[in-house]
Amino acid sequence: MSKKALINIDYTNDFVSDKGALTCGIPAQQMEENILAVTKQFIDDGDYVVFAVDIHQKDDPYHPEANLFPAHNLSGSNGRNLYGEMNRVYEDNSFLQNVYWMDKTRYSAFAGTDLELKLRERGISELHLVGVCTDICVLHTAVDAYNKGFKIVIHKDAVASFNQIGHEWALGHFKACLAANVI
Ligand code: ZN
Repeated sequence: MSKKALINIDYTNDFVSDKGALTCGIPAQQMEENILAVTKQFIDDGDYVVFAVDIHQKDDPYHPEANLFPAHNLSGSNGRNLYGEMNRVYEDNSFLQNVYWMDKTRYSAFAGTDLELKLRERGISELHLVGVCTDICVLHTAVDAYNKGFKIVIHKDAVASFNQIGHEWALGHFKACLAANVI
């Protein structure tokens, strides 16, 4: 059996809570139980769990998102903390060797990070993706994973977007073009 990892993407206050700076809102809140269940399962099974979390600096004129989105997930802000119970799940398990907090500065969890090295070191070939937004950070992470030859599993009840059409489109794309197993 291939070794697997969970990539838990951007489930932070800014992306999920009603008052978040770039929130997916209700769809992201409604899948909270599902994303918690998948995350706890992977942690309990001893599988590798990566919390891939956007980080931005205030008023960074060089960042390509500067003109695209309102400021979000600013370094040191509460908006960058994980949403709801997920924050506690991370904190309660952050000491474990199989739990890895990884800052990222682009949509893809692979862009400018050591994610690929961490996965290859551990002989992991299958990536399970959960989080937000389905059609932005989850999608870009999946595209990179595909290009790098990882098998992809998308937990469709544990991803969400502020754009329902984009969400549906991405679910189709994962399956039709990235050979992902959408479960
Ligand atoms: Zn961002």
